[in-house]
Amino acid sequence: MALMGRMMSDPLLISSLLRHAERHSGETEIVSKRVEGDLHRSNWREVALRSRQAAQAFARLGCQPGDRVATLAWNGHRHLEIYYGASGSGLVCHTINPRLFPEQIVWIAGDAEDRVLCFDATFLPLVEKIAPALKTVQHFVLMTSRAHMPAASAIPNLLCFDDLLAAESGDYAWPALDENTASSICYTSGTTGNPKGAVYSHRSTVLHAYASALPDAMDCSSRDVVLPVVPMFHVNAWGLPYSAALVGFKLVFPGPHLDGKSLYELFEGEQVTFSAGVPTVWLGLLNYVKAGGLKFSSFKRTVIGGAACPPAMMKSLQDDFGIEVIHAWGMTEMSPLGTLSKLTTRQLNLPADAQQRLLEKQGRVIYGVDMAIIDDDGRSLPWDGASAGNLVVRGHWVISQYYKNDASPLVSVDGEPGWFPTGDVATIDADGFMQITDRSKDVIKSGGEWISSIDLENIAMAHPGVFEAAAIAARHPKWDERPLLVVVKKPDATVTREELLAFYEGRIAKWQVPDDVIFVSEIPHTATGKIQKLKLRDQLKDHRLPTA
Ligand code: ADP
Repeated sequence: MALMGRMMSDPLLISSLLRHAERHSGETEIVSKRVEGDLHRSNWREVALRSRQAAQAFARLGCQPGDRVATLAWNGHRHLEIYYGASGSGLVCHTINPRLFPEQIVWIAGDAEDRVLCFDATFLPLVEKIAPALKTVQHFVLMTSRAHMPAASAIPNLLCFDDLLAAESGDYAWPALDENTASSICYTSGTTGNPKGAVYSHRSTVLHAYASALPDAMDCSSRDVVLPVVPMFHVNAWGLPYSAALVGFKLVFPGPHLDGKSLYELFEGEQVTFSAGVPTVWLGLLNYVKAGGLKFSSFKRTVIGGAACPPAMMKSLQDDFGIEVIHAWGMTEMSPLGTLSKLTTRQLNLPADAQQRLLEKQGRVIYGVDMAIIDDDGRSLPWDGASAGNLVVRGHWVISQYYKNDASPLVSVDGEPGWFPTGDVATIDADGFMQITDRSKDVIKSGGEWISSIDLENIAMAHPGVFEAAAIAARHPKWDERPLLVVVKKPDATVTREELLAFYEGRIAKWQVPDDVIFVSEIPHTATGKIQKLKLRDQLKDHRLPTA
């Protein structure tokens, strides 16, 4: 008979993160630029107290274990208090992306059966409009103080978050939940069909928080000052609010102030050392900083993910500002972290350009996630850096099922079941460095051969006249699909179609060079800041290639 370990088995609970932060990092600051316009200063001790008060307030509103508390909110201390107060007390925190269409928000809130909706004042007009359609929501809570409550509102019994907390003692013991209890729900963007819910557990969240803080992951210590630009409504700000409590670092929340100037002032004012966000947010910040000839005095490292980081952006952050860029890949279904581009000792001895090419990849998995690439028949493909296949994953913080859907999304690899298909196409090299070539639905199939839209975009983004670029498939009578490049020029840039096409020469195989370039004033983005290729394809479906 197996000998069992004789160790304590305390459940991995989100409340334990907060308890730890309160005791060991109590005075560490939590700074929030708020919707109200002020710069609010709090710390882990206060956040812990207010989270307990929030838990008591939700109970007083009648919430029962498992009930969903939804948020429509920016990054800020009140959002953090709801994260911990709801999850910690056995409720489920459902972060809704406010950039979705109102009909989608109504659908998601109904699907999740949200009982309470907490929202920032920014979204009051939106919530007033959709409130009658939010059939399951019994309480609407405005995340502000009494002084900022509106004199009147179309929402009957609109509650004030700070008032609800002030009515509670904070004398509250976090329940000893089963660590597999649901802690939060996040819906995928739903580019096709309705969004799907990923239901995280306390266990998956705590394990993800552990792993993502490690040196070869986000490398966060208690000496860091972290500004998550990635929203708390986008896969829990990539877990940073949880790693923050685990490690005890200072958090700086930008609220709704995400333009280049506001971000730069916050980075400097709070001496931010580390940040995280999708590529598009850095476009605005870098433009502002470059235009003003400014420098960062404390900013050292950033994680960029959610979409491929263009190498030109990475180079600029590294060379112009001395900022280390950690390229990361993940998805809502993975809490989200899967891989990060951090070099091994051996790789640090490679020539600089070889190192750079590795850093541009999406990187190696962290412990807790396993990956494989497979062909359409489920056979695994070699890790040779060249064979591209469907990327599948499994691990402690990967979903096994979607919310309210008993069908298993999982697939087999060489006959072994239990792998989640990511919908991405990737290569993996002998060192385990993974590179995404495309989302399977964005791949351009020209005469049976795949062309990576990410490669084409990365090259275009390296041209000094290009602000943003998207490569999509356009119909072609002979080749089925051919690449079409859609470009937003930088202000004042004079770059032409011919110049851009010539720019591809020598940088990519000739047959992969786009057939045409279209200049537009704006490229559509998804609610999470990624290029909306389906929409772009639809907008340009009648475009006739000159080669057609
Ligand atoms: P969101 O996270 O925006 O809600 P998804 O979870 O659907 O939406 O996004 C995950 C997808 O984003 C991945 O499957 C992949 O296609 C893409 N992605 C994420 N990070 C990267 C990256 N570093 N490079 C390329 N694609 C990425």
